[in-house]
Amino acid sequence: MRKLPKIRQNNMPMKTKKIPMRMCLGCSEMKPKKELVRVVKTKEGEISLDLTGKKAGRGAYICADAECLRKARKAKRLEKSFACRIDDEIYDAMEKELNANEQ
Ligand SMILES: [Zn+2]
Repeated sequence: MRKLPKIRQNNMPMKTKKIPMRMCLGCSEMKPKKELVRVVKTKEGEISLDLTGKKAGRGAYICADAECLRKARKAKRLEKSFACRIDDEIYDAMEKELNANEQ
């Protein structure tokens, strides 16, 4: 068996993993990323919810709560974050999807 060289892991501290935090665009609270829902803008400029967290594109985060989506919608925070207009139908579809996800 080949002996592996010993590597000093200076860049890997044995601390507990830091939980990635993101800010909700609705209530502006910092929350663990996995408690939030990602809203993604694809390079084609389509906005949609990303419930799997795997869609490619620019992301923004909101709580898994339709109330936060409504707040973000009212304050146009998603528009600001993505620097584009978002149609009412897109908001409605996202809200519906969020409501379905909650159950
Ligand atoms: Zn929120």
